[in-house]
Amino acid sequence: MSYRGRFAPSPTGRLHAGSLVAAVGSWLCARHAGGQWLLRMEDIDPPREVSGSAASILAALPAFGLVADAPVIYQSSRIAAYDAAFEQLRRASRVFPCWCSRSDLAAADGLHRDGRCIAPADLGRAPAWRIRVPDEDIHFVDALQGLQSQRLREAVGDFVIRRVEGFYSYQLACVVDDAWQGITDVVRGSDLLDSTPRQIWLQRCLGFPTPRYLHLPLVLDSQGRKLSKSERSREVDPAAPLPSLRRALSFLGIKPDENACDVSGLLHAALAHFNPRNLPQCSDHHVT
Ligand code: GLU
Repeated sequence: MSYRGRFAPSPTGRLHAGSLVAAVGSWLCARHAGGQWLLRMEDIDPPREVSGSAASILAALPAFGLVADAPVIYQSSRIAAYDAAFEQLRRASRVFPCWCSRSDLAAADGLHRDGRCIAPADLGRAPAWRIRVPDEDIHFVDALQGLQSQRLREAVGDFVIRRVEGFYSYQLACVVDDAWQGITDVVRGSDLLDSTPRQIWLQRCLGFPTPRYLHLPLVLDSQGRKLSKSERSREVDPAAPLPSLRRALSFLGIKPDENACDVSGLLHAALAHFNPRNLPQCSDHHVT
């Protein structure tokens, strides 16, 4: 199958230096492979959503020269697909309802490991739903970070795929949509490296193929902390895109063309020299 990559931001703030690196990195990998680059807005967590940020991220990307090959997919319009995946898991007895409170969970080291809820059923109250995880290591070879292995039972336990309020988890929605969009290659920040084994487990339970993964180094602030969208100072300015785009390219180990005078020239010069093998494995400098 030909290469299909994607950028999948959550609308929790404006585009910032860290998400620009993920967008540029995934775009470069897709274009280098002669493949497609798709966009997905991960707007399935209304309590965390910042109003106006989906539109502002989508307006900013073309200002940095990043134009998707298909119309953007909004996860908020895909609930029927998540319902169907959930039903498939429920019919296969892969999931169980969970009524645990925080204190019930704390008493169990914060994890469920036995494929059932540790609190008594409370039929008057909506449960969360957890998926049972196997007691075995899940391995994958990350194209940049190398061999990864996680024993889900030890690391995360039986994890939530549908919350008490009825919202589906990032893990479930991401897996359903990566399969539906035919994504062959996921390029994203290393903060999601430890989500990947959960996603691989969901793919196996749902009968989906596992894409290739490449986790980029994380952009850190000067104190060595991950940039978050809530830190407004790290926002990038789409009205003056060249400096932020140059910094994002340098962060990805690409010497930006000093003569390029627009984003398209800068991106295409970067693409001409780009090789995913030369990406830095970890962040040895900051972008801000
Ligand atoms: N929506 C996630 C985020 O913004 C990224 C999801 C992904 O790339 O799998 O952190």
